[in-house]
Amino acid sequence: MPPIVELKDVHKSFGPVAVLKGVSFSVDKGQVVAIIGQSGSGKSTALRCLDRLETIDSGELRVCEQELSGKDVDLRALRRDVGIVFQSYNLFPHLTVAENIMLAPRSVKKMGRSEARQLAADVLGRVGLADRLDAYPEQLSGGQQQRVAIARSLAMQPKVMLFDEVTSALDPELTGEVLKVIEKLAADGMTMILVTHEMEFAQRVADLVIYMRDGKVHESGPPDIMTNPSTPELRRFVSAGQ
Ligand code: ADP
Ligand code: MG
Repeated sequence: MPPIVELKDVHKSFGPVAVLKGVSFSVDKGQVVAIIGQSGSGKSTALRCLDRLETIDSGELRVCEQELSGKDVDLRALRRDVGIVFQSYNLFPHLTVAENIMLAPRSVKKMGRSEARQLAADVLGRVGLADRLDAYPEQLSGGQQQRVAIARSLAMQPKVMLFDEVTSALDPELTGEVLKVIEKLAADGMTMILVTHEMEFAQRVADLVIYMRDGKVHESGPPDIMTNPSTPELRRFVSAGQ
C-alpha cells in the first residue's frame, strides 16, 4: 500500500526566507507521527502544505494518492481526506456544537439534516461530549471546544488527521482531556501527524518522531530517539524540555 503522506525534498520559501529546505518523510496508513522542534523550524508550514493551505516550491508531495506538487489538485477531495485541527478552535460562536459539526457534511457531502445530526452525535460521542450537542461554544471549556473541533474534523471521515499544537493554548488539566481523545484516535487506528510540545505524549503515542530544525528533518526515528538522541541538537532540545 502506498504511503498516505509522502514528501521528497520539499522546499518552500516565503519571499526571500527559505522555510522548508528539503524535507522528506513518509507516513503509512495507521501510523502516528509526532513532529517536534523549536519554534520557527517550519513545522506548521510543513503541515499546512499537506492540506495545500500552502503550495510547495519544489520537491514531491503526495497526500492520499494525490500529487500536490503540480497545479492540478482536486482540493475538494483533498480537504475531504485530510482533517486539520489548529491551536485555535475556530468554532462559529452563533451556531450550536451540533450545527458547527453539521456544516461541512451538509454543504460538502450534501447530507440531509437528520443524518448530519446523527453523525454529529456519533462523533461527539467519540470525543466524550455526546451530551453537549445543543450547547453553544461559549458554554464549553477550552478543552471541550477543542474536542468539538476534533469531532468536526472526524465528521468528514478523514483518511489522515493533522494536529498543529492543539493543546498549546490550554491549561494543563484541559490539555490532558484533549490528549486523551487523540490517544484514543491513535488506538482506533487513525493515521495522524501531530506537531506537539508534549514530549511525554509524543514518546508514548507516536510510531515515528521527526525532529525538525531550521527547515529540515534533523533527526527522525522511533520514539526512543527522544531518550537516546543521535545528534547533540536533539539531545539539547529534549533536555531543555522544549
Ligand atoms: P513552526 O511551526 O516550527 O514554529 P513555522 O512553519 O510557523 O514554524 O514558521 C517557519 C518560518 O516561516 C518562521 O520564520 C515564520 O516566520 C515563517 N513564516 C511562516 N509563515 C509565513 C508566511 N505566511 N509568510 C512569511 N513567513 C512565514
Ligand atoms: Mg507552528
